[in-house]
Amino acid sequence: MLPVVALVGRPNVGKSTLFNRLTRTRDALVADYPGLTRDRQYGQAEVEGQSFIVIDTGGIVGNEEGIDALMAEQSLMAIDEADAVLFLVDARAGLTSADESIAEYLRKQSKKVFVVANKIDGIDADSAVAEFYHLGLGDTVHQIAAAHNRGVTQLLNLALAPHIDGMALTDEGDDADEDYDNVVHLEEGEEFDDSEETAQDDKIKLAIIGKPNVGKSTLTNRILGEERVVVYDMPGTTRDSVYIPMERGDREYTLIDTAGIRRRKNVTDAVEKFSVIKTLQAIEDANVVLLVIDARDGITDQDLSLLGYVLESGRSLVLVVNKWDGLDNDIKERVKSELDRRLGFIDFARLHFISALHGTGVGHLFESVEEAFDSATRRTSTAMLTKIMDMAVFDHQPPMVNGRRIKLKYAHAGGYNPPIIVIHGNQVNALPQSYKRYLMNYFRKALKIMGTPIKVEFRGTA
Ligand code: GDP
Ligand code: GDP
Repeated sequence: MLPVVALVGRPNVGKSTLFNRLTRTRDALVADYPGLTRDRQYGQAEVEGQSFIVIDTGGIVGNEEGIDALMAEQSLMAIDEADAVLFLVDARAGLTSADESIAEYLRKQSKKVFVVANKIDGIDADSAVAEFYHLGLGDTVHQIAAAHNRGVTQLLNLALAPHIDGMALTDEGDDADEDYDNVVHLEEGEEFDDSEETAQDDKIKLAIIGKPNVGKSTLTNRILGEERVVVYDMPGTTRDSVYIPMERGDREYTLIDTAGIRRRKNVTDAVEKFSVIKTLQAIEDANVVLLVIDARDGITDQDLSLLGYVLESGRSLVLVVNKWDGLDNDIKERVKSELDRRLGFIDFARLHFISALHGTGVGHLFESVEEAFDSATRRTSTAMLTKIMDMAVFDHQPPMVNGRRIKLKYAHAGGYNPPIIVIHGNQVNALPQSYKRYLMNYFRKALKIMGTPIKVEFRGTA
């Protein structure tokens, strides 16, 4: 489980500046999808090799309504679910009454809270932060300048410290091989060597995610068959998914159920069981993600933001439109054209129309899940990748730059799950985006890769 760090504080203290700094590593992944609006509230971050989930709780003011109320509720839940809370205050503005009321709230939470004085750049920090000791939260006021990345690493090392110890004592750390951020980065001329990797675990970890009421539990129950439902205990906290071992044909699965299949009888409040943190944890832990969308709602902002998390993570993806039963043809057509318009930019994921309630189309999901998993984990030799690269170049030459043609020399694998292809050549920095995309699509077609994003990286010899 990734540790969770919540950023709390009144507006304008620098929460989003810190959030952006911490989550920046993943921006590059999302940049590949121009249709995607990035959710700036939840993100995956990494400091000195330690991954964690960071939440910008925004300015919770206490009188939110509608969608804002839902967000505020998620924010309060985030504080509740966080392993550490960074309470930001503004070293330049000094102590305000808003700071004091937030402190009062936090003091009641029995949470690990760090008081963080931001914007200490260019001021006499020690005297500026003195008054924040009166907040009565711990005996240290941590000093940072988020905008200048000062003090940030030290602060996060402290905030995450117990987790680093805790992780070292369990096997969980071994999963790091599968983490996108831990992909091996190779020097010039070096080849990707996966011989030291543990033999690929071919158990497929499949997460079923989606906003509340799209039919996740109905689908999980449908997949498992009702009789297996009683076997599992309630998860400990709202942020725990249920991990269900399962076999299908000759393949082994672990189903990661974010809905919680054994629901209490009368759960009326959807927010109560839905947790963004739980969803993020499930995505990180999965090989393949089933993102369930409700045909009756169309594509909502919440669907898009969940989709954004999946794309950021680099996980394999199968899109599922549920509740396809009993719809008029004109509504079906409208949903399809909306899907095209709003999700057309994801060209790698298979799309299924199902009815979890009646079971229609559920079996076929697994064809796409297995295809995605196999695509994401398949090993391809340097010889094969270089051959495909040569074919792509033969079909369509890279452009000339300063009178010289960009030359691509060879290609090799740089990682799997998602697959990374590293191409070496001359002047590769000058390759236009359109040509990079052409190469990526060429590799995708030639290798029949479906269901997983792929990444093509370039290494230059000047
Ligand atoms: P939020 O409302 O808490 O998310 O605050 P923002 O991240 O939007 O920051 C509010 C303002 O403070 C912006 O103008 C930032 O540029 C500025 N700011 C953030 N961090 C620093 C810092 O470390 N030093 C200085 N001088 N300004 C900062
Ligand atoms: P979750 O919150 O995502 O786990 O959603 P549930 O599985 O609890 O389903 C929410 C509601 O949608 C329930 O009333 C289900 O009976 C209904 N539902 C789920 N799947 C389908 C479906 O395929 N068709 C129809 N018509 N209703 C469905």
